Amino acid sequence: MTSPFLLYHKIDLPTEDVKVRGAFTPPKAFARQLETLSKRGFRFATASEMAAYFRENGHFPKQTVAITFDDGWKDNFTNALPILQRFGAKATIFLVTSCLDKTTDLVVAEGEGPREHLSVDDVRAMSGEGIEFGSHTHTHRHLHKLEADDIHTELETSKTIIEDITQRPCESFAYPAGFFNETAKAAVRASGFQIAFTTVYSQETGLDLFALNRTEILRHDRFLFRFKRKIAGLG
Ligand SMILES: [Zn+2]
Repeated sequence: MTSPFLLYHKIDLPTEDVKVRGAFTPPKAFARQLETLSKRGFRFATASEMAAYFRENGHFPKQTVAITFDDGWKDNFTNALPILQRFGAKATIFLVTSCLDKTTDLVVAEGEGPREHLSVDDVRAMSGEGIEFGSHTHTHRHLHKLEADDIHTELETSKTIIEDITQRPCESFAYPAGFFNETAKAAVRASGFQIAFTTVYSQETGLDLFALNRTEILRHDRFLFRFKRKIAGLG
C-alpha cells in the first residue's frame, strides 16, 4: 500500500557543501509534483484532518494526500508556501522547536553547514493559511534511546511552544529520524497527539495511527516519471 502521506524536507536547490542531496526537492519540481496531483484530482488535507477522518471511517479519504515536511526549514516558508498556495494545497510541517528562529546544524546531514530554520513569525504567518504545525520534538533526540522522563520533556516542551505560537491544538507528531519504540509510542499518545509518523516507507498493510509510514519524495523524484511511479498506488 502506498502511504497517502508524502514526506518532504527541503524545497530548495542543494548548496555546494551538501554531499547528501536526497532531501532537497527543487522548487520547480515541487510545483510540477503538486500540479500532477492536482490534475489527477487529488485533494490535500492536513495530518490531523486525515487522523480525524480515519477515526470516524476506519480508513483514509479517497483521492486525498497529506503533504508533510520534517525539521521546519526556512525554505518551507520562502519556497514551498507560495507553491502550496498556488495549488490551494494544505500541508503539515513538523517543527524542532529549539531550532525556531535559529540557523543551526542540529538536524543537517553529516558534513553539511548550518541551515536556517523557520522563525516564530513565519510559523504564526503560515498557521491558518492551510498549514498545520506538528511536533518533531524539542531537540530532535532519537526517542528509542531516551528514558520515559526525557521523552515526556521532548513532547511536552515542543507541544506547548507550538500551541502558544499558533493558538491551536498541536495534534500531530513525527519521530526524529523515524525512530520509535513502544514506550515512545505510548508517550506520544498520552501527550494528546492524534497521529504520529515515522520516516520509513514500507509495504506494511496494518495501519497504526501512531506509527504511520510515509511516501518519501526525494531529489531524484524531480524527474516527473519517477514521481508518477511513486504515487501510482495512490487512489
Ligand atoms: Zn528530522
